[in-house]
Amino acid sequence: LETRPSNFIRTIIENDLESGKHQTIHTRFPPEPNGYLHIGHAKSICLNFGLARDYPNAACNLRFDDTNPVKEDADYVAAIEKDVTWLGFEWQGDVRYSSNYFEQLFDYAVELIENNKAYVCELNAEQTREYRGTLTSAGKDSPFRDRPIAESLDLFNRMRAGEFKEGTMMLRAKIDMASPNMKMRDPVIYRIRFAHHHQTGDKWCIYPMYDFTHCISDAIEGITHSLCTLEFEDHRPLYDWVLANISIECKPRQIEFSRLNLQYTLTSKRKLNALIEENIVTGWDDPRMPTISGMRRRGYPAASLREFSKRIGVTKQENTVEFASLEACVREDLEANGARAMAVLDPIKVTITNYEEGKLEQLNAPAHPKDESMGTRIVPFSRELYIDAADFREEANKKYKRLVLGKEVRLRNAYMIKAEEVIKDDAGNITEILCSYDPTTLGKNPEDGRKPKGVIHWVSAASNHPAEFRIYDRLFTVENPAAVEDIHTVIYPDSLVIKQGFVENSLIDAKAEVAYQFEREGYFCADSKDSSTAKLVFNRTVALRDSWAG
Ligand code: ATP
Ligand code: MG
Ligand code: MG
Repeated sequence: LETRPSNFIRTIIENDLESGKHQTIHTRFPPEPNGYLHIGHAKSICLNFGLARDYPNAACNLRFDDTNPVKEDADYVAAIEKDVTWLGFEWQGDVRYSSNYFEQLFDYAVELIENNKAYVCELNAEQTREYRGTLTSAGKDSPFRDRPIAESLDLFNRMRAGEFKEGTMMLRAKIDMASPNMKMRDPVIYRIRFAHHHQTGDKWCIYPMYDFTHCISDAIEGITHSLCTLEFEDHRPLYDWVLANISIECKPRQIEFSRLNLQYTLTSKRKLNALIEENIVTGWDDPRMPTISGMRRRGYPAASLREFSKRIGVTKQENTVEFASLEACVREDLEANGARAMAVLDPIKVTITNYEEGKLEQLNAPAHPKDESMGTRIVPFSRELYIDAADFREEANKKYKRLVLGKEVRLRNAYMIKAEEVIKDDAGNITEILCSYDPTTLGKNPEDGRKPKGVIHWVSAASNHPAEFRIYDRLFTVENPAAVEDIHTVIYPDSLVIKQGFVENSLIDAKAEVAYQFEREGYFCADSKDSSTAKLVFNRTVALRDSWAG
């Protein structure tokens, strides 16, 4: 079981349970279906669903905050559900939509008007801005502020009936145009939008604003603690004002925490969408994207994302988390759980001249050196093999612990071989290395005390599978790409490098998204979109060691 460190939100909850204010808690995760979820959302998911899991009888809702039909889409709804489930969480009951409450929201708006707490305003956008004032100067009352209640009621009903054009009328809460909090200066709570909605179709041509919708949706669902990011701090008085001025029993408490900012990463759906629009990446699930779907496709285990959000904690302090700490969580998980396999990414041929032609040995190798329960795999060995070009040199100093002409090295899970001769093409490039092997060295050192200089990986040339390797790296050259005006100037040109090589037989049916450790090369998983038994494609999940330091 994953253990959870405490945080200020848990302290609030525990006080509320102890004082008897609440018998249990109810949270919600409220994404707007206008894009795919990213690593920042993973933090919010782990927080909200994690709390629901940890307190007796507690629950967490998945609610689509869908009041902005122009930017939203049902495809995003499906993708978000998949991501939350993949992260290992279950929402209570059915998925909810703010749009489920449009009728109730309308009624509460009518209640506000009837109580002289809201009015229909006919200022245009520019006038509205002007009347609102600035941070240093009070706003002015709208000339429509004191129109009769009956007139506002009539106009609001006619707004709903579709009698007026977009932008000509809006419903505003009647609060305080002189409030130091700009959000309280008679905020708009309904506007006209002749837009098709992915859930409600063409039923509505007026849509409630976020600040009016969110608190009421929370209250309708019986949410006890409504957790959101710090930028909503100055929305809280409005959240409380709306609930205080309508006849609804439940008064959830909004609590803000700091957003996750991650080095070298954009965490804004709008900015991520721009990367797709401009063909910088191939889609929301491009393995370089910090989206949950991108990270899943890249091979990040769900547990490593949960571990990451546990480690970063929940505070009110804005900060930027090092990318290396996310990768460390992935690496730790895969070091323990990733099956081992051999793949050669930059092949050069080796012929073992004293090994029988046509012979194919089926060697046994552990799936994990430290975990016998993961079983073994069969690795074919033959006279012709491939090793990585970087694992051979004609001459080298003592620090080079691989294959050198005239010297011995161990082939992982197999024999010791000695490089005897190289074959070169006319241009002087090595095309083949002729070696001898010592048949007494399978799984043990020779009895005369010789020790191999090192261990290298290989695959049989007689029995293997060709594969494409997609080596992913950071997408941006700067730590804070969000601060850059022209994103094109900071795209890392080598964020994807493609190599063609070979993998051992056991990988023919590698499950997509499940990462292996390709020994000495890194962690890789089969690509969920492009890999098939006819053409294997592996994504590099993460390098073996942290390469982000520089
Ligand atoms: P974006 O700016 O990417 O569009 P958003 O906040 O508008 O993000 P929502 O779909 O409204 O996206 O977010 C759903 C929930 O996830 C909200 O409660 C929001 O506060 C939270 N969330 C979004 N981004 C982060 C982040 N970087 N760190 C923590 N929580 C986040
Ligand atoms: Mg939002
Ligand atoms: Mg947003």
